[in-house]
Amino acid sequence: MTLIDGKKTALEIREELKKEIDSLKIAGRKLPGLVTILVGDDPASGMYVRSKNKACAEIGIFSKIEKLDENTSQADLLKLIESYNKNENIHGILVQLPLPKHIDEDRIIQNINPLKDVDGFHPISVGNMVIGNKTLYPCTPYGIIELLRRYKIDTKGKHAVVVGRSNIVGKPIANMMLQKKDGANSIVTVCHSAAGDLSVYTKTADILIAAIGRANFIKGDMVKNGVVVIDVGINRVEDPSVSKGYKVVGDVDFDEVSKKASYITPVPGGVGPMTIAMLLKNNFEAYKRIEKID
Ligand code: NAP
Repeated sequence: MTLIDGKKTALEIREELKKEIDSLKIAGRKLPGLVTILVGDDPASGMYVRSKNKACAEIGIFSKIEKLDENTSQADLLKLIESYNKNENIHGILVQLPLPKHIDEDRIIQNINPLKDVDGFHPISVGNMVIGNKTLYPCTPYGIIELLRRYKIDTKGKHAVVVGRSNIVGKPIANMMLQKKDGANSIVTVCHSAAGDLSVYTKTADILIAAIGRANFIKGDMVKNGVVVIDVGINRVEDPSVSKGYKVVGDVDFDEVSKKASYITPVPGGVGPMTIAMLLKNNFEAYKRIEKID
């Protein structure tokens, strides 16, 4: 069994990007810029935004956090987005989700310039992804494809079973696995909560992608020998043996499933670290497109 090391792969991607940005600096060119907009005081969102900001700084992307009050109106948020749509030093706009209930998330996403849509959630980005055009891809699915490519896992004609159909993971990864491209070109099945006996589907998977949000849900008897397992889940479970009182586990019961898998991502240290690395990559791609750099 090979452990797919997302931490190491994410670091490699960051180093590759840093090298490219260093050479832009040496050439005296404008550098890539990202703005992250955070509305309200949700501690988890605040932590994500700070880690994205730090990751940008480490590789030389100019990064700014716009921290807005919980009661910010939708109209003011839209105005701020419009100002960054026009800002020539900003190539990526990320609005940290979820937003407070009085703000319509879809409306906000639709008002981001698609060229700066580094989360890959704008309907134009999604449409291009489905058609198979080059675009800015949602970061977590993009990270999964990158792991499959870099570990040279054979995906062509293989049966990929995706459990979960969210707009940020399940649906986009199913679409990306379907594309006639490197790291994809698979036969895809998508499962969700109406699937009934999930193991009917998961047992036939050559590649199993779990994005469910339920701790240790996929058990050893639900997969076949040799399966490639990508565990997207991030779940907190009580653990009195550690000082913080909990640990983070995936959607896959690692102890059971790793005995049958040929490749598997751990949680933590699998898909998670790839998400920020792919955000940086998207920001650099957006920069190159806007600044017309090959
Ligand atoms: P979500 O929006 O809650 O979607 C969960 C999906 O799982 C839904 O489509 C749901 O089906 C399906 N599901 C739930 N119970 C099921 C069951 N018993 N059998 C089959 N399908 C079932 O979650 P998400 O945003 O996609 O996230 C999924 C997990 O990935 C979470 O643990 C999240 O924290 C994690 N995540 C990790 C990263 C990362 O960077 N590693 C990024 C994003 C998310 P229905 O559609 O029928 O309700």
